[in-house]
Amino acid sequence: MSSDHRLALDNCIKCSICVSHCPVARVTDKFAGPKQNGPDLERFRLEEPAAVHPSIGYCTNCKGCDVVCPSGVAVSAMNCRARGEYVSMHGAPLRDKILARVDRMGKAARLAPSLVNRLAGLRPLRLLAEKMLGISAAMTMPRYAQKTFLELYKPQNVGDTGRKVLYYPGCYVNYNAPEVGLALAEVLAHNNIRVEVEQFDCCGLPLIANGLLDTARDQAKKNLAKLQGYINRGYDIVTTCPSCHLTLRQEYRELFQLNTDPLHEKMLDVFEYLSVLLQQGKLVTRFEELPLQVGYHQPCHLKAAGCGVPSREILQLIPGLRVADLDAGCCGLAGTYGFKKEKYAISQAIGSNVFNAVKELGVRQVISECGMCQLQIHHLTGVAVYHPLQVLAQACGHGKWLAK
Ligand code: SF4
Ligand code: SF4
Repeated sequence: MSSDHRLALDNCIKCSICVSHCPVARVTDKFAGPKQNGPDLERFRLEEPAAVHPSIGYCTNCKGCDVVCPSGVAVSAMNCRARGEYVSMHGAPLRDKILARVDRMGKAARLAPSLVNRLAGLRPLRLLAEKMLGISAAMTMPRYAQKTFLELYKPQNVGDTGRKVLYYPGCYVNYNAPEVGLALAEVLAHNNIRVEVEQFDCCGLPLIANGLLDTARDQAKKNLAKLQGYINRGYDIVTTCPSCHLTLRQEYRELFQLNTDPLHEKMLDVFEYLSVLLQQGKLVTRFEELPLQVGYHQPCHLKAAGCGVPSREILQLIPGLRVADLDAGCCGLAGTYGFKKEKYAISQAIGSNVFNAVKELGVRQVISECGMCQLQIHHLTGVAVYHPLQVLAQACGHGKWLAK
């Protein structure tokens, strides 16, 4: 189905299924809802671009509406375009321009990560940032790593399987969670596959979510050109962040009409990649026993990618490990959304289902592929949260993240 077809308004049969599945509409009446802000208002926007309801800023871009729509309408893309139109007409607040540049914040934090982490925990400074900028003083800030993933990564000497893999780490792994990228390298080295890395631009999702589409489009073009170069040289591309993955493969096409067809063939979530190896009988399944139970949270953008939950297929090969699905829907953080003062309470209300599921299951450790979901679940519950790759790397004999 082409993106134009998906966006076609006449596909909407007004069933309102999207409304009943929208996590924001469930907890607040500040958001007019996916059908109203999407296909309903889009009819007016085609004639009069100024017909954007200000409540469009309350859509989290979780893509739950796209997933459940029986007609395949790309509601979230309509909302993203409308938000871009609203911002181009009214401008974006300074707060949103800051939060949208996670890449620049990461680069700046590299100068003194310990100091930045300490300042982010100082209550008086947080209250000042809330008053002056509208950044919630209540939300836990992501911590910056002492060194970036690109600084820490050293290619490993492995046997030659003929497979060439390029890793797109994304900003969160590079600046905040390099251990996830290092776990990926260990898992692929366990399979005699060497990983290449490269300096990319941010995928642009934080810009898209804040309506700054022109800058996001520029970054999209640069990223696609670089990725195409690797594909031409026979590389498979793997990602560990579901949101980067969806942005590169889907948003670039639906929002910017860029050709992402090569990525559909050659770019995979790392667990999809490992599943292919498993199907081919080439996955090294020599794993150490991990006698423990963890909760699993599926990120919304992994669900929207339509690739199932490949991490669970692989993790069930680890002896002793029990993975319990939290099955609690959206965590509510949605990238930069839950850091905004006026949206913090909405974000926490959405995430309350995740909080309840963790308590009911009684798990002390949770796994999830998305760095922002990890942050929100830890903020909501206090339990330790990891990327599934860290579990797999531990079962391969590297790292001791999870407590047995
Ligand atoms: S689920 Fe799809 S078809 Fe139904 S109202 Fe929403 S956009 Fe329209
Ligand atoms: S993307 Fe998520 S928050 Fe936005 S309208 Fe769709 S379901 Fe609601």
